[in-house]
Amino acid sequence: MSPEADLHVHTIYSDSTFSPHEVISTASKVSLACIAITDHDAVGGVEEAIDYGKKVGIEVIPGVELTAEYNDTEIHILGYFIDYKSSWFLEKLQHLRETRRKRFLQMVEKLKKFNISLDAEKIIRGNLSASIGRLHLAQELYRKGYVSSIKEAFRVYIGEGRPCYVKKERLSPQEAITMIRKLGGISVVAHPYLMGDDNVIPVLVKEGIEGIEVYHSEHPLSAQIRYMSMAQNYNLLITGGSDCHGLGKGKVLLGKVRISYNLVEKLKEYKNARDKT
Ligand code: AMP
Ligand code: FE
Ligand code: FE
Ligand code: ZN
Repeated sequence: MSPEADLHVHTIYSDSTFSPHEVISTASKVSLACIAITDHDAVGGVEEAIDYGKKVGIEVIPGVELTAEYNDTEIHILGYFIDYKSSWFLEKLQHLRETRRKRFLQMVEKLKKFNISLDAEKIIRGNLSASIGRLHLAQELYRKGYVSSIKEAFRVYIGEGRPCYVKKERLSPQEAITMIRKLGGISVVAHPYLMGDDNVIPVLVKEGIEGIEVYHSEHPLSAQIRYMSMAQNYNLLITGGSDCHGLGKGKVLLGKVRISYNLVEKLKEYKNARDKT
């Protein structure tokens, strides 16, 4: 079998239930040659994954998933091959995680109007090294029996436009793309289908985005075909991944979306050529 990669994977450092160690052992079970760790606003899981990956023969690409916004549309931007030890970047991420905690408290406060009482401080303390977010909240609502599924938590309470939703701090696309570039990384627009507005893509291209996530667990075939042709038209690199959150969304998705390792090689060739100029 030719080698394959899954370039969109979360850990407990954001909102997955899997530790970096569990990500690697699962990747090994499903015969992936390469994965990228792409936590929301966090890189705490990268080193452990790289180290354990070396032991079992799985290549780990250091990555991150940042949140940006354009005209009210939320945009997720992936950074690959980033310098995950850069101190200014770590400080920035720390700040983003602090704003996430404040926003978490606000959402818990709003839930009170629906007679839902959660111990926000306790949940935060239980996830101190994580980028706390709506998936943690959805899981708590489910555990406590306020909703009968994670999806219901989003549909009724905390999805965008629902009564207990609070926006988190979002970067401008330019900020996110520039940050990744300064870290030596490659910027890629994540799951464009979920943005719900393809007009954002040319804007991102203008700002310097370098790749597009064509393959994703929530991309129907028609979306894959559309984004593949956009990749060609705009001369963007092509990536793909499962967006696995461990058991966070129910099923373990790791390796359910896999791309040929040739695409990883293309990323590396691109970066090498760019670094020379
Ligand atoms: P946050 O970054 O705190 O806004 O939370 C976003 C997280 O919630 C990401 O992991 C999303 O994939 C997840 N999410 C958003 N909407 C849903 C949904 N309807 N069902 C399950 N997970 C969702
Ligand atoms: Fe997530
Ligand atoms: Fe995302
Ligand atoms: Zn993700």
